[in-house]
Amino acid sequence: SIPLGYFGGIGRAAKEGILVKGSNFLDALSRATVVAFDKTGTLTKGVFKVTKIETRNGFSEDEILRFAALAEAHSNHPIAKAIKEAYGREIDETQIKEHEEIAGHGVRARIDDTEVMVGNDRLLHKFNIEHDTCHVKGTVAHIVVNGKYAGYIIISDEIKEDSPIAVKELKRLGVKKVIMLTGDNRDVADEIAKQLGIDEFYAELLPEDKVKVIEELERKKKGDEKIVFVGDGINDAPVLARADVGVAMGALGSDAAIETADVVVMDDKPSKLPRGVKIARRTQRIVW
Ligand code: ADP
Ligand code: MG
Repeated sequence: SIPLGYFGGIGRAAKEGILVKGSNFLDALSRATVVAFDKTGTLTKGVFKVTKIETRNGFSEDEILRFAALAEAHSNHPIAKAIKEAYGREIDETQIKEHEEIAGHGVRARIDDTEVMVGNDRLLHKFNIEHDTCHVKGTVAHIVVNGKYAGYIIISDEIKEDSPIAVKELKRLGVKKVIMLTGDNRDVADEIAKQLGIDEFYAELLPEDKVKVIEELERKKKGDEKIVFVGDGINDAPVLARADVGVAMGALGSDAAIETADVVVMDDKPSKLPRGVKIARRTQRIVW
């Protein structure tokens, strides 16, 4: 039978917008030893803004912004949204003849007779396009037009005000390691990890690499240690499923993530994590 104290704990957590899907997860949360956060949309606001446009090979800023916006027309990625917002004009859908989104890479599209690619180093590497290697403060979206490097757009996100508090609180509670996972580049990840006091980060990960990182953490843990993963749900469902406790954060998370997650945090505050751990531990003391 389930001790009554658990119901109190689950109810208490629910009142604070932390929905725990079972007493076993509340129990696991109380023993959290590693907490791994996804970066975009979880530790950061996930609201990207174009901060710079650099052109190459005779292209104009206007041209590459237009090509990029059209190529990203069908993408919901935060990067795509930022580019479309910076473009700021109506997109004539009839010009988009083909389009393809490559997870963790970017997009490829045909705009009338022009082949356009928008994405990261990995995308350009995949198609053997020579390009600048930028070490800049921000996420880089390279633009390739008909196989020719046309420049890049820098997109920046902001750290949530609540994120440093969450990291500090988790450590104060004795969580051994706070980790960040991201598909974004190493420079951005390094900067954010430093600002947040994150112990360890893994960057340039494909969605399947994130699963591997969690599997590795699960293999290495000892005794009744528990691994927690916190994501906003976009492409995260397989990662959420693999951790001892998968936490989907933000009401904006996808239905798939809310279904797969063991814990759903209603708002988008990372500090709900240490809060959940505290409630879980208090429940433990009542139960045992
Ligand atoms: P995150 O871990 O930050 O959520 P994603 O897996 O969504 O990252 O994407 C990883 C990287 O792939 C992005 O940082 C970006 O470089 C590239 N990328 C993915 N989708 C797009 C897109 N629609 N346009 C441009 N770049 C993209
Ligand atoms: Mg993501």
